[in-house]
Amino acid sequence: MSATYPSPFRIAVAAALFAASIASPVAAQSLDAIPAKYRDIANRIIAAAEADSTGAWDRIAELTDRFGHRLSGSLALEQAITWTAATMQRDGLANVRTERVMVPHWVRGDESLELVSPRRQRLPMLGLGGSIATPSNGITAEVIVVASFEELTARAAEAKGRIVLYDAEWRDYGYNGAFRRQGAIAAAKVGAVASLARAAGPYGMRTPHTGSMSYDSTVTRIPHASVAAEDAMMIRRMIARGETVRVTLKMNAQTLPDAESRNVMGELRGRERPDEIVVMGGHIDSWDVGQGAMDDAGGVVVAWEAIRLLKRLGLTPRRTIRAVGWTNEENGGRGGAAYKEMHQHEVHQLAIESDGGVFAPLGFGFTGPPAARAAVEAIATLLVPIGAGKIEASGGGADIGPIMSTGVPGMGLNVDGSRYFWFHHTDADTPDKLDPKEVRRVVAAMAVMAFIAADLERSLRP
Ligand SMILES: [Zn+2]
Repeated sequence: MSATYPSPFRIAVAAALFAASIASPVAAQSLDAIPAKYRDIANRIIAAAEADSTGAWDRIAELTDRFGHRLSGSLALEQAITWTAATMQRDGLANVRTERVMVPHWVRGDESLELVSPRRQRLPMLGLGGSIATPSNGITAEVIVVASFEELTARAAEAKGRIVLYDAEWRDYGYNGAFRRQGAIAAAKVGAVASLARAAGPYGMRTPHTGSMSYDSTVTRIPHASVAAEDAMMIRRMIARGETVRVTLKMNAQTLPDAESRNVMGELRGRERPDEIVVMGGHIDSWDVGQGAMDDAGGVVVAWEAIRLLKRLGLTPRRTIRAVGWTNEENGGRGGAAYKEMHQHEVHQLAIESDGGVFAPLGFGFTGPPAARAAVEAIATLLVPIGAGKIEASGGGADIGPIMSTGVPGMGLNVDGSRYFWFHHTDADTPDKLDPKEVRRVVAAMAVMAFIAADLERSLRP
């Protein structure tokens, strides 16, 4: 495009945005005033968070060491929720409560994968969430390896009666996660008896990655499991050398009737408009591997700790800040949906979710009206000192998606996620993968953003 002057279209857009910002409530409190007004408070919050040597990391470790992994329907999850509520109460959070949510109840049972030819070896594996079981003596069959759904379609005839192994090199979670989610459907369509997916992660130490998978009611359901990247590549090499690879897959997974779980929450009540809410948090459930520290005890704890920090500093915003541990994010999203059903009648100023690990904060993604974006960008300038001042084009998350669909502006915490998918949904998701210093910075970023958003004179809502 050669034009040097902004096109008539661009002028029209800018004018509309300007008119909207003039018309919108946020404009009344000029954006420039925000950093000036809140700089000292932001610096106090950051300094206190960074000085807090025993805070959030210890709490993440305590929660995940005490209860371990917390899959929906498990006793461990409910015990963790009860403990969280009691501990929030002890911390002096207001209005601490749990809210009932019915959740899917999938259980893994005993499972194994054995290479039986060209030689015998037990291979690490994890059944994928929602999968059916194999017959009690397992399924033993020849393996065919494909790198894509297209290759599977092209080699459909070879797949009949065999076990399909999806061995796709890591690109990103969207691409590689598709083999986990849809792999059993595509393999069954070509007559496979079971399917395996290479772990959806850029780096592994022979760690399979679990996660949810789905079936199609019009297609036969076959068992589906994750294998380590190393073994997927090994099997590919064996077959490339002309060897016949056979494995025995044994799975005892079951989907039981829905179970009762709860969202858990606590608040810092607003001083002027306590019925208006800034909600933030993460999911308290996890997959049934590791300790669910990175995914996502960290997201629950940093929101909770942000409130504790504000209380300690005697900072009470205009509106209420609510920290939530949503249940059932991993295999159903029922917690986020129930939160919307039970709270959409309330005026929500903003919703913030952390579900990407509590690594070094970079900022937030934001979805909402332009005037509100300008306001959160103004707030984020106060987070530049800790490297968290960037507001990305869009933001949100699985748990706040439902309440955002009612018009609530939403944000997703952005962090240096370079190690997130190393440990995602694996036995290696343990507290030591998180750096206490980075966790403290996340608490600071959440506390500053939530406090100022909750204290603004004007609403962020359109
Ligand atoms: Zn998660």
